[in-house]
Amino acid sequence: MTEKNQTLRCPTCRTLVLAGSEDFPFCSDRCRLIDLGKWSSGAYRISSPILDPDVLEGLDNQPRRPDDDEDTSH
Ligand SMILES: [Zn+2]
Repeated sequence: MTEKNQTLRCPTCRTLVLAGSEDFPFCSDRCRLIDLGKWSSGAYRISSPILDPDVLEGLDNQPRRPDDDEDTSH
């Protein structure tokens, strides 16, 4: 039984990585950060926006309920 010793190649540098590795599937924390950096810098194409700005604006402009200042039971 050697299934625990599966290996994959690091997506960043193609080094073989053990499946039990702490940074799996990356060979190191550095390679993980590099891969994340690709995403945030737009190297990968994102087909659709995650959040629509209009939706956020709509939430912001929700009409406020007036506070119950008038205490008639005074
Ligand atoms: Zn790597």
